[in-house]
Amino acid sequence: MSNGIVNGIVVAVDGPSGSGKSSTSRGVAARLGLRYLDTGAMFRAMTWAMLRDGVDIHDAAALAARAGAPRIESGTDPLGPTIAVDGTDVAEAIRTEEVTRAVSPVSAVPEVRARLLELQRRVIADATGTGPGIVVEGRDIGSVVAPDAPVKVYLTADPAARAARRAAEEGGSDLAATEQLLLSRDKIDSSRATAPLVRADGAVHIDTTPYTLDEVVDQVVALVRAVE
Ligand code: C5P
Repeated sequence: MSNGIVNGIVVAVDGPSGSGKSSTSRGVAARLGLRYLDTGAMFRAMTWAMLRDGVDIHDAAALAARAGAPRIESGTDPLGPTIAVDGTDVAEAIRTEEVTRAVSPVSAVPEVRARLLELQRRVIADATGTGPGIVVEGRDIGSVVAPDAPVKVYLTADPAARAARRAAEEGGSDLAATEQLLLSRDKIDSSRATAPLVRADGAVHIDTTPYTLDEVVDQVVALVRAVE
């Protein structure tokens, strides 16, 4: 197509924490008029619900038994994405250090992943069936959630740059502690048995370290235009 309208496309954006996934994905979606889904927010919402309900986050069987319980709703406007659990807005609550520390063990549980996979596929089907498409960010989008996505991107950045970005997002939290937490999450996310963080087949690798956000958005938009 030459008119710039992209029909029913899925753009899969994966990578470790702080690689620039969220800002890039939202920027690309806004630029192309696509929806946006932050799957990390869904895992955080599930984790928030487990903590709320007093579930031991190191007890995989207990987590598995509760995985179907919380009602998790994601709003997909790239200019104002929302996330709610059982009707409560948890956009801020899911960014606390308590949730950040608990999210990787919760996300390693297969029943948690299966439940969220179902929700993610439903959001993607809605966005591609009735609209121009969606940018989906996470760890396993190109490999598991949407392996047929015509555009797959794998973003990385130097650990120091990633920690600096995350610390700034979190309002200037301690840099060394942020880097350590980020690396420990990467380790769990990359080594778990179910849907680990990997560079998916066909994913274009962009190391975002030397680029501004706009430059990375430009690169991904160019990839989308190339498949139109
Ligand atoms: O992207 P964000 O850092 O908010 O993700 C939080 C956590 O959710 C990750 O560290 C990972 O454990 C989990 N996650 C996942 N699969 C995804 C997205 C996030 O396991 N697709």
